[in-house]
Amino acid sequence: MGLDPLEKENQELKRTLRLMISKAEQNESVLNSFFEVELRLLSCGRLSELLDLILVDFKALFRLSSVNLILFDPEHAARSLLNEYVPPATGNTLRFVQSQRLLKSIYPNQGMIVGAPSPSLKAEAFPVADSPVESCALLPLVRHNCLIGSLHLGSCDASRYTEHVRYDYIQHLASVVSVCIENCINQENLHRLSSIDMLTKVHNRRSFEEEIVRELSRASRSAHSLACLFIDLDHFKTVNDTYGHQTGDRVLRTVGLFLNKQLRKTDTVARYGGEEFAILLPNCDKDRALSIAETLRKKLANLIFRDELSRPFRMTTSIGVSLCHPEKNPSVKLDDIAYQLIQAADKAVYSSKDGGRNQVSFMPFPNLEPPQVNTDKG
Ligand code: GH3
Ligand code: MG
Ligand code: MG
Repeated sequence: MGLDPLEKENQELKRTLRLMISKAEQNESVLNSFFEVELRLLSCGRLSELLDLILVDFKALFRLSSVNLILFDPEHAARSLLNEYVPPATGNTLRFVQSQRLLKSIYPNQGMIVGAPSPSLKAEAFPVADSPVESCALLPLVRHNCLIGSLHLGSCDASRYTEHVRYDYIQHLASVVSVCIENCINQENLHRLSSIDMLTKVHNRRSFEEEIVRELSRASRSAHSLACLFIDLDHFKTVNDTYGHQTGDRVLRTVGLFLNKQLRKTDTVARYGGEEFAILLPNCDKDRALSIAETLRKKLANLIFRDELSRPFRMTTSIGVSLCHPEKNPSVKLDDIAYQLIQAADKAVYSSKDGGRNQVSFMPFPNLEPPQVNTDKG
């Protein structure tokens, strides 16, 4: 016996309802995963971290065959923050452009592009796709009505991105990505500006004091030493008095530039005070620290400076060296070790001054561990 029409309609309605619930659950799960991704984007503090999230994690999270990013970077603001950053995949997964020509050619109508890319669009958007891109979503990144970049999501599934579906989620994601990119660049630039000395362009004292604690923590973890050099320019007051303050400033700038060039990328150069520079040499033993200090002293003494009238002059420096093994002071706070290391290097500078200037002196790091109580009564 067949079902009566009412029963049939009832079953049909139930089926539709089940489908709708399942679709709603699916949408909720997609929405939740987008929320999670957005939170991760918003919590990125550094541009390199943000780029790794977009270029590496997006691929896995959204099951994509390729993710490419173009950033409009006319003044090298982004690139200057990424000196040591290596994009995750070889080739052009991350590109910087100085003009808007490429971006405007991808988005002639300004809005996002979805569907199967034409060969020419594919070549522009995915110059080196790791696997075939059969459909894609190309998202313009816009801030303050200006195209700041372009995010390209490529899939090997031709039905993944089609023109007939709305993609509000990824459009929203593109807005969040745009805000995060702009924020990271601004924040990092601001932090960099607040940590460099405007005259010499090396780290300022505040940044040096942060850096020394960071390096001590690293040295403690890896059981390495940290050497600290203090360099004080000899009779600098006489340079100012003889050649003028402007020339004095130029000497300081040249010394800052010179020190930065001489040292490794992992070393820290800072202007600690008026005519005093401080240097951190991670993982450097006493002999090497002394030899570096001696080389710097000799090279600095051979630099020829010129005053406003092009008259040449030279200048010497007094250098103080100290070195510590933070792992040998496990019960001492890193702030205190930093203070003692700076003090020791500073005292070593005074020794060099007392010894007649233009020389290097070493001051051992004091023993900061509390004395062991001897309970052996034998
Ligand atoms: P010493 O060999 O004992 O170190 O003698 P000095 O003259 O180098 O040391 P002193 O501490 O007597 O003088 C430091 C001078 O550095 C005085 C100050 O005017 C100058 N100075 C500090 N900051 C700057 C700066 O930013 N620009 C210029 N041009 N001079 C500066
Ligand atoms: Mg001084
Ligand atoms: Mg001096």
